[in-house]
Amino acid sequence: MKKLVLFDIDGTLLKFKKYRSKEFFAQVIDEIFGTKPDIDKMPSFAGMTDSSMLRVIADDLNISHDEMFSHSAAIWSKLLALYKEFTTEDIIEILPGVEDLLMKLEADKDIALGLVTGNFRAHAYLKLDTVGLGYYFKFGAYGDDNYDRDFLPPLLFRRAAEYLKVAGFSASDALIIGDSPKDIQCAKVNGIPVLSVATGGFSTEELAEFQPNDILNDLSDSDAVYSLIRKMLGMN
Ligand SMILES: [Mg+2]
Repeated sequence: MKKLVLFDIDGTLLKFKKYRSKEFFAQVIDEIFGTKPDIDKMPSFAGMTDSSMLRVIADDLNISHDEMFSHSAAIWSKLLALYKEFTTEDIIEILPGVEDLLMKLEADKDIALGLVTGNFRAHAYLKLDTVGLGYYFKFGAYGDDNYDRDFLPPLLFRRAAEYLKVAGFSASDALIIGDSPKDIQCAKVNGIPVLSVATGGFSTEELAEFQPNDILNDLSDSDAVYSLIRKMLGMN
């Protein structure tokens, strides 16, 4: 059976030269609820799901979670429209080694690639497709599936099994690769090994405190990273 290599997106596969998510969330919430959240009160998006950001905003504005999520279809579609205007190839940097690594993993018949990301699904593929990486990912679990990132891997296992037409996957069949402490936590809660990479907002020292199974400065030595991934998955 295939093993699953599960990637986070921001800070792991790619990086934006500028981010405007807080501003866009504030604008959309203002359009729908007629009240604008305070951007300074929003936490960092790093590792957070988009749904958990909506919960934080709802709490800040005294809107119930039910009320907030009753508008989720409109929220995602308005956000997507703003992101479509904003997301161009020239503001996205594919991180070092990523393209080579994805090619190697994709060519490996014993491996399937998936996404575990806080981005809502349409936004995840907008980012990836803008720089030609969407093709590598046939399934994932996303920030509009659940507010809690820790619930995403079980959902991903079901989608992967369905897509690959196999009975199921468990934690020992997978590896998570991500740049934030929340990726590490999500992996650990689910018993999945995790490879941290310090190409996002966190240094190797900061990541080490959360005890991932391994940490790299970046993915630039794609041959070595590919071998490490196979080793971490218990493949020879
Ligand atoms: Mg990230």
